[in-house]
Order: sequence, then structure tokens, then C-alpha cells
Amino acid sequence: MTSTLDQSTDRGPLWPLPIPDPDTRGFWAATAQGVLAVCRCLDCRQWIHAPLERCRTCMGPVEFAPVSGRGTLHTWIAVNRQAVPGPDVPYLVGVAELEEAPSIRITGVLRTATDLRPQVGMPVTIGLEPTAAGDFVAPVILPA
Ligand SMILES: [Zn+2]
Repeated sequence: MTSTLDQSTDRGPLWPLPIPDPDTRGFWAATAQGVLAVCRCLDCRQWIHAPLERCRTCMGPVEFAPVSGRGTLHTWIAVNRQAVPGPDVPYLVGVAELEEAPSIRITGVLRTATDLRPQVGMPVTIGLEPTAAGDFVAPVILPA
């Protein structure tokens, strides 16, 4: 997904912001409504992420179908040095596999208690939080 930098430093730290395109517009429209939704083929029901305008398997039409937000932590990383403009370090980034479709992985800031070391495979919930500028609602990974 393409992104640009959030330039609203008066409202919070800089974050990369998405630039919705025909493939991703439905994802961001759903999160703006507080719904985590993943692209899914209407014909063969295959989950497709990153989203596409047509199914890569059967060329069928697609929709953004709501998902539970439940999953497991596939991997995570601690960002200790600021390589690009962004929030204050350190912070964690997680990748979660969805319960409905383990092949679908959602990336987001990983929020944990300070004394909790994330464990690969631990249950997580994918929540949604507004970006610093409030222009988008983005996924965040939370311990379940
Ligand atoms: Zn299909």
C-alpha cells in the first residue's frame, strides 16, 4: 500500500499515511466506520490481501468482508532507532494472522503492557485507532 507522511506535527507524531487507491479504498472506508474488513472474492470466497480489484484465482468480483479481528501474533519487531520520520521510539510493530484466514496477515503498532514480552503465537486482537492527524483509522495489534 502506498503511503505519505502525516505533516500535522501540531496534533501528534508523524506517521506514514495511506493513499487509498481503487484496490485499498474499501479497506480504509471500512476502518473509518470502525470495521476491520478484508478483501474477499464473491465467487470462490478466497481472502485476498493485499486487496485487488478482481480475484487473482478466478477473476471474480471482490468485496470487503468484515472479520472478527481475532488472531495470533505471527511476528513482531521493536523499533529502537528512528530510521524514517515517525513516532517517538521505542515502539513495537506486530504482524497478526487472522483467525478466519491465517494466510492473511495484518500489520500494526503492537501495544502491550510494559512488562509483557510479546510471544509469537500468542492470541491477539486487531483493534482500530485513528492516526495522529485523525485522517485515517489504522489497525493496532493488542494482546487478547
Ligand atoms: Zn475467486
